[in-house]
Amino acid sequence: MLETGCWKLDAGNWKLETGFKLPSLHFKFQSTTFNGFEWTLFIMVKRSFFGLAKPQFRYESLNGKPFEPEKISTPDRVTLFLKRPFAPNPLVRTGDKVKTGQKLSFYEDGDEYVISSVTGTVSSISPYMGDFGKSYTAVSIDVAGEEETDEQFGTAAEEPTLEKIKAFLDFTPGAPRMDALLDADKPIKTIVVCGIDRDLLIATNQYVVKSRVEAINNGISLLKKLSGVAHIMIAMPRALMKEAGSIGGAAGVELRAIDAGYPASLPKMMMKELLGKVVPEGKTCEDMGVCFLNAEAVASVGSAFKNRKIPVTKTLTLIKKDMTKVLVETRIGTPISDIFNTCDVSLDQGDRIIIGGPMTGSAVYSDDYPVQPDTDAIMVQANEDVSPVSDYPCINCGECVRICPAKIQVSMLVRFCEAGEYEDAADLYDLYSCIECGLCSFVCVSGMPVFQYIRLAKYELDRVRIAEAEEEATENA
Ligand code: SF4
Ligand code: SF4
Repeated sequence: MLETGCWKLDAGNWKLETGFKLPSLHFKFQSTTFNGFEWTLFIMVKRSFFGLAKPQFRYESLNGKPFEPEKISTPDRVTLFLKRPFAPNPLVRTGDKVKTGQKLSFYEDGDEYVISSVTGTVSSISPYMGDFGKSYTAVSIDVAGEEETDEQFGTAAEEPTLEKIKAFLDFTPGAPRMDALLDADKPIKTIVVCGIDRDLLIATNQYVVKSRVEAINNGISLLKKLSGVAHIMIAMPRALMKEAGSIGGAAGVELRAIDAGYPASLPKMMMKELLGKVVPEGKTCEDMGVCFLNAEAVASVGSAFKNRKIPVTKTLTLIKKDMTKVLVETRIGTPISDIFNTCDVSLDQGDRIIIGGPMTGSAVYSDDYPVQPDTDAIMVQANEDVSPVSDYPCINCGECVRICPAKIQVSMLVRFCEAGEYEDAADLYDLYSCIECGLCSFVCVSGMPVFQYIRLAKYELDRVRIAEAEEEATENA
């Protein structure tokens, strides 16, 4: 058996690990079946401590006939995260009755909202702290009585507009954000619908492309008509292209195959490969006139306006400790413990729960954590497979520099990020060129959380810039 930073390999199995244990490994190929799908899994890893070859990871393709994902029963309680800090006297109060699909706005001075995914009673409204200390308002709703659907969207849906999508569908599966399409200062020329997930081992958006063709076509037609954007692309794995003949056909969209090598599905990589555009440091894809939406987000738009009903059920990929995977459908807000119970996942002391995929996901400390509109995967890592992050210093091996797809001097960048010198990290070492693939953390010989330092640096700089902008706005008012 070979043990590596992320993978243990033997003749028939592979599984995920973190940390670095043995400096070289080769590749693994496996084809397997689960949930009725044949998964063609290519994990090709070829790495030398001395950097003779880069590790290569390949996305999985979801081949075979569609199937029904595991359906999770409606939970007793859902919890929804409003994306703004808790403040006293919200407009919604504990004890209020809510219906399925009801829009809940909490504060008069903002347009943030959540959509109730169940019918019941608001049982608590409290502060919640997320990654890097981000502040949210957590709203819990106890499910009670017969399910009733709120009618407000049904009336609004008679005449679709982008503003209505923003006003009602932000908090639906896939989180269809319309900000870019509504920004008159940065006109969007191309919409890319992602039929492939951004991280490895996840099949959520591939499944949506295969199983929800009509909803995606409706969504694309609507977005095209409402935004006036003529150029629409669907990006998906090459293996799915032959099955995707009917998708986008009616709306006349362009189907494009994504390279199977990670991180080809990240937006800035797609900008280069599909559109031949390099996003300059500090700029976004939207600055360059391109808007990326997940296939599930587009399907949410399509089905919401067709059925005049806000969708509240999220599809996600559950990656178990033994690396088997299950696609599940569950109400937004369901605690992940309910998913674990249904799918026979038992947790032991020291196991790790990761929201997202192996390269870019974030660990959470409790299985009470609820599914949110953008939760595409939940991964469980067994205690014995978790390698603790080390506090060893950088030994200047250069592995992170060699693997970085953005060609950043990562070994220098991480020094400034680790020391909290974020401005210098941005000004001198290309912090904003990072496309957030996580490969540097994977290869780091010292086990440094390189990617996490980089994300923290960006978050802190953003906070400072937002605070400065608010201060300036107040002074000018
Ligand atoms: S996460 Fe690391 S490897 Fe990936 S682009 Fe950023 S610095 Fe480079
Ligand atoms: S940060 Fe890690 S991978 Fe990069 S040079 Fe230092 S020890 Fe090597």
